[in-house]
Amino acid sequence: MARVSVVGGGVIGLTSALELARAGHQVRCVRDLAVEDTVSRVAGALWFPYHVQPRRLALRWGLDSLARFTAIAATVPFEAAGVRLARGVLVHRAEPDLWWTEGVEGVRPAGTDELPPGAGRGAVATLPLVDTGRFLPWLERECADAAVQLVRGHVTDLDAVPDCDAVVLACGLRSGALTGDPGLSPARGQVVRLANPGLTDWLVDGDDPDTLTYVLPHGDTVVCGGTDVEGDWDTGVDPATEQAILARCVAAVPALRGARVVGRAVGLRPVASTVRLERHTDEGRPLVTNYGHGGAGVTLSWGCAAEVVRLLG
Ligand SMILES: Cc1cc2nc3c(=O)[nH]c(=O)nc-3n(C[C@H](O)[C@H](O)[C@H](O)COP(=O)(O)OP(=O)(O)OC[C@H]3O[C@@H](n4cnc5c(N)ncnc54)[C@H](O)[C@@H]3O)c2cc1C
Repeated sequence: MARVSVVGGGVIGLTSALELARAGHQVRCVRDLAVEDTVSRVAGALWFPYHVQPRRLALRWGLDSLARFTAIAATVPFEAAGVRLARGVLVHRAEPDLWWTEGVEGVRPAGTDELPPGAGRGAVATLPLVDTGRFLPWLERECADAAVQLVRGHVTDLDAVPDCDAVVLACGLRSGALTGDPGLSPARGQVVRLANPGLTDWLVDGDDPDTLTYVLPHGDTVVCGGTDVEGDWDTGVDPATEQAILARCVAAVPALRGARVVGRAVGLRPVASTVRLERHTDEGRPLVTNYGHGGAGVTLSWGCAAEVVRLLG
């Protein structure tokens, strides 16, 4: 057993902390935001390795996570953990690149009657869909049950994290400030949450970032998106962007017309040329970094957490 401090309490920090505790380590998780205020909370969050590199590792970590989410959906009620397997359609406007389907069961071409108006082709799949409003608090409860010490605090220097034998860095987009990594950049995403008129299936029309459209139903609410603007640090909700998102989503799923707006949010995806999941030594102490998951932090979370445990040994 080692004393490990995980810095960061979004989906990446919490899954890392939980897996380390379950592996027998004594874990403390320190974060400066409530889960409700993290980028992780903004996510839709469909299992899909979107805007993340490198593909080979993303798929490996993603498939690990797919198995874990499938097990959670089968054993924990949706009301508790917010995880379910949901059917949906991925619309293809350009030549489809189905690299992500390797190892994913049951993906098939969509029939014409399954596609939104004007869409030529697509793929139908049943994938984990995660309501982060339920999932992140569930992760915190699982951490507490596994004796993870959850504390609020802001870290300015990794060397100065006290009372531990190893540190895990999981601060998303702000990880670069702690490591001096200049290679992290934001990809701004805006969403609007609507009261669910009764939808159960999801829809993603995402070949083109300029017209990214998705509809992700979670029980009482539906997350509608979106945008993916590289290099944009603005975290304010833009009303014109929201109107454009709503217009695209209603055109794709007419049942959403007139649905009440129940929330709106912006998050900055932590994009890097490759996910920074590596072991280093910092002042003689092991440091494992786990950040840079772009648009796929939820999708890769469990697989990356297992890798953190392996890297710490
Ligand atoms: C609009 C949108 C839609 C998305 N959709 C999906 C999707 O469908 N599927 C999917 O898999 N992914 C999706 N993502 C991507 C996903 O949300 C991110 O990849 C993921 O949330 C990153 O998680 P994280 O834990 O690394 O970072 P964050 O959630 O940002 O958490 C960072 C944590 O670090 C803490 N922290 C930071 N700096 C410090 C410090 N100095 N001291 C102490 N604590 C610190 C914060 O308090 C926080 O707890 C989406 C993202 C957006 C914006």
